[in-house]
Amino acid sequence: MSRTTDTDFTPGRLVTLTDRVSRVTAPNGGPMTGPGTNTYLVCGGPAGRDVAIVDAGPGHPAHLEALVSAIGGRRLAALLVTHTHIDHSPGTAPLAARFSAPRVGRVSAHPEFQDASFASDLVVLDGTRVAGDGWTLRAVPTPGHASNHVCWFLEEEGLVFTGDHVLGTTSPVILAPDGSMRDYLASLARLRAMELTELMPGHGPRLSQPARVLDDLVRHRMEREAQVVTALRAGPPATVGELVDTVYAVLPGSLKTWAAYSLEAHLIKLEEEGRVARDADRWSLREAADG
Ligand SMILES: [Zn+2]
Repeated sequence: MSRTTDTDFTPGRLVTLTDRVSRVTAPNGGPMTGPGTNTYLVCGGPAGRDVAIVDAGPGHPAHLEALVSAIGGRRLAALLVTHTHIDHSPGTAPLAARFSAPRVGRVSAHPEFQDASFASDLVVLDGTRVAGDGWTLRAVPTPGHASNHVCWFLEEEGLVFTGDHVLGTTSPVILAPDGSMRDYLASLARLRAMELTELMPGHGPRLSQPARVLDDLVRHRMEREAQVVTALRAGPPATVGELVDTVYAVLPGSLKTWAAYSLEAHLIKLEEEGRVARDADRWSLREAADG
């Protein structure tokens, strides 16, 4: 696949991706962050005077310095965020102070995993536009991974910055109750309905076949949901932990905590659909055996 040509995630290195888009990866690689958080710089081509940053990343000093040098003598016109988990937005406040640039994103109503330092200078609605010299970024609200998640569509190039809604190599964890599997699937459908050239994820490589990627993600979740239903049908009422052991048997223990979030998000979706019931911490199937 074309993604194999996009392999340079050296922390601090400025990687040119398109005429308008370049990327600096933060030095925070790990099991949940892949090679690290991608910070994107958008400008209107080589002569563009204005720069926008999408997801300034963690407030790591070396990462911030790499961004300052990447901005160079240009004007930082806006600091946009896709969401406010701690690996995405803490770099926003220090850069906003240094460059007097506006912060643009949605503040989360839910405290878990959130960057409490983030505030927005603009109310972000569906379709809110932020523009500079040669670029226009449009808000596409995409709740699911987090309730305040927004993808940013670059109108001039038809590509979208997907944050943690779509990742380069894995599928995102859905962190209920802030996250919602129903919202996530609806948000995947929302992107699927757009004419897109490319996806630029918050972690990992750019993805050049948006329709295929989005279809694969939906299929993956539907397969996972079917596994949950099968596991519930096969046994007595079960806890999330017991279901994780059945459905994600091959996962190392350290990742099972995160798998539990997504599995619980599936259960909540099925509960909303009237297909499962919960009694204290035990879940059981409500539908007929022929499903
Ligand atoms: Zn992230």
